[in-house]
Amino acid sequence: MISIEQALNSILAEVSPVETIDTLPLAEALGRVLATDQHSDLDVPPADNSAMDGYAFKSSSLKQDQDNWLPLHQRVAAGHSPAALPEGSAARIFTGGEIPSGADTVVMQEQCQEKDGLVLVPSTKPVGNNVRPRGQDIQRGDKVLSRGKKLAPQDLGLLASIGKAEVGVSRRLKVAIVSTGDELVNPGEALGPGKIYNSNRFTLTGLLSSMGIDVVETHLVEDTLDATEQALSHAAAHADCVISTGGVSVGDEDHVKPAIEKLGQLALWKIAIKPGKPLAFGDIKGTPFFGLPGNPVSVFITFAILVRPYLQARQGQTVGKLRTLPLQSNFSSTANPKRQEYIRVKIDDDGRVDSYRTQSSGALSSTAWADALAIIPAGTAVNVGDTLAVIPFSELFN
Ligand code: AMP
Ligand code: MG
Repeated sequence: MISIEQALNSILAEVSPVETIDTLPLAEALGRVLATDQHSDLDVPPADNSAMDGYAFKSSSLKQDQDNWLPLHQRVAAGHSPAALPEGSAARIFTGGEIPSGADTVVMQEQCQEKDGLVLVPSTKPVGNNVRPRGQDIQRGDKVLSRGKKLAPQDLGLLASIGKAEVGVSRRLKVAIVSTGDELVNPGEALGPGKIYNSNRFTLTGLLSSMGIDVVETHLVEDTLDATEQALSHAAAHADCVISTGGVSVGDEDHVKPAIEKLGQLALWKIAIKPGKPLAFGDIKGTPFFGLPGNPVSVFITFAILVRPYLQARQGQTVGKLRTLPLQSNFSSTANPKRQEYIRVKIDDDGRVDSYRTQSSGALSSTAWADALAIIPAGTAVNVGDTLAVIPFSELFN
């Protein structure tokens, strides 16, 4: 058996990111991976401006021992360029309004009195009070985003704030899914004797779509070498990566390994992961290939832990470590001597975790009930109250 880390390192060593760049209008770039670093050509904000509705003046023109009634010289609303402010006067100003030259301080309107074209301002405010200085957010030349970032909603706003109307992102990846198994029937069809519904195809489609990847082909193949070979070969010709499920062990009904050996090459690993021990990685005539186990939860886990980082790297995304939360366990479980376990858990209102009633690798209901995975290292028993490393599902679908 090899460790999860060894498997992941071997997988990531093989990645070459896609090179084609799509230039998209900003509004269409959500969830896409930035192809180049983004620098600002301007200061944001472009000028000093007011953080409040109030009055602007020059602090040093105030007298300390008396009331300061300043003549109102102008009115500055956001979006309008102010005139220079004469010494000893004040400007009525509104949030976002540009600070006139000659002013350096703003006092909010609630702390001032206005009467007969004069305004009484307090003399106790520091220079720069309520002024948002030019370049406070971003300075010209700053790098605002790095290539490899998957664009979040706020990134689109940030790019807009520096005036970008379009952005270059990596092209979408195309993935083909091959579901193997004589027992499989797609939903929508009648379930004959001995049959079960093909769930893996849909779990994978969801996982891939949530990463912004296009599912270009789906094949359902019977357990024969010919059918397996044909489907894999067709899929490989039309996709950047092929993912199969099932048939990856070395039983008489498992044809993935011999098929790939005819079409390309593969490593068949036993990985110290539960669920999901057997996994194949290789290529079909040069197209990268993952052979996942058949059990539905194994598909979910091996995709999340091993395939997703590969596909992220392939689409040019910076691959980060999955972040975990240290959360206390409400459950106990016995140690698995050799394999690291990913237990389907739910985080309760107190931030502790409950485990699903069955952790069978066939029980897909566990993945829908759960909102996180607790990582239990090999050889570790869990007692109630233990602190566990927990991966929230939000880490996996972003
Ligand atoms: P296999 O790895 O082909 O021996 O499959 C392991 C288990 O997963 C068997 O119980 C299969 O019936 C089940 N299985 C395989 N593929 C699928 C699928 N696409 N959807 C649901 N269950 C599957
Ligand atoms: Mg099978």
